[in-house]
Amino acid sequence: MKIAEIHIYQHDLPVKNGPYTMANAEVWALDTTLVKLVADNGQVGWGETCPVGPTYAESHAGGARAALIAMGEGLIGAEVAPMTLHRRMDGLLTGHNYAKAAIDIAVHDLLGKHLGVSVSDLLGGAATDRVPSYYATGVGAPDDIARLAAEKLAEGYPRLQIKVGGRPVEMDIETIRKVWEKVRGSGMKLAVDGNRGWATRDALRVSRECPEIPFIMEQPCNTLEDLQKIRPQISHGLYMDENSTSLNTVITAAGTGLVDGFGMKVTRIGGLQPMRAFRDICEARNLPHTCDDSWGGDIIAAACTHIGTTVKPGNLEGVWLAAPYIEGNYDAENGIRIEGGHIAVPQGPGLGITPDESLFGAPVASF
Ligand SMILES: [Mg+2]
Repeated sequence: MKIAEIHIYQHDLPVKNGPYTMANAEVWALDTTLVKLVADNGQVGWGETCPVGPTYAESHAGGARAALIAMGEGLIGAEVAPMTLHRRMDGLLTGHNYAKAAIDIAVHDLLGKHLGVSVSDLLGGAATDRVPSYYATGVGAPDDIARLAAEKLAEGYPRLQIKVGGRPVEMDIETIRKVWEKVRGSGMKLAVDGNRGWATRDALRVSRECPEIPFIMEQPCNTLEDLQKIRPQISHGLYMDENSTSLNTVITAAGTGLVDGFGMKVTRIGGLQPMRAFRDICEARNLPHTCDDSWGGDIIAAACTHIGTTVKPGNLEGVWLAAPYIEGNYDAENGIRIEGGHIAVPQGPGLGITPDESLFGAPVASF
């Protein structure tokens, strides 16, 4: 089975009650990119990539489409096989993992449909039919975030991620303490995510001043060197997110004991094929991790849920989806939803999602 057609679409996703605030970004709406692959036997697969604005990471929506357009012609006639397709994409364009991820996801969808199996079966098999999610709060006033924490605990979320940074660190410390007052004893897991926003000084201070609160620190500072610097001085677990841009950085971070786990984005690492290798490296080193999208709609949400259910359950820190923050679904019937803090794994072949194509309008490019 070979790729016969590639269609690239742009679609705007409105943020509910926007903006969503992080240390270095305010997000009002998302600019997502969808890819439809048509095989020479007429079967169709969908992929998606949606950078969360231009300042979260070294990726942006226009860049995703430009990279896909640059590769488009060269992928016509390629075999629908994930690993060989990655090599072909790398032969056409260096880097731009987040754009390649959309093709990778569409290939998995297409292959699953062709073989009559789900994407999680292709990735090694589902461990469960329902995966845990977690809620990410946004940077906000301490009392507001504490109230939100209590609400999300009551809804059944097993984990909460508190966004911090981009303001005086005293407010971050107050937020962490007020959240802890609400969730202490509940078993709810806590992550404190600086999104690269703290100076090393701030991360050291937070760890020193909150020794009794069992949170993990996710990507507190900007660089790998910052993480190396704070690592021996903090008493909290350290997870890497934004710095884990490739399997190579993951191998180094896991192999040198720099981190205790990862926040991982399916699109950042290049899609489901590298994600399964990441999963296996983490399992070999017994490192917990998330399987997140970096925003997007039902296609990316389904991809994250499928890889999430193949992770050893004790190591899965949750599948984070943008779904609660954005309006609507591509697939009105089978669209991905978070209920009671958990996500049902989509059923049926491929991703198990049939997007309503009319939502996306005419393609911005076709090959
Ligand atoms: Mg993060």
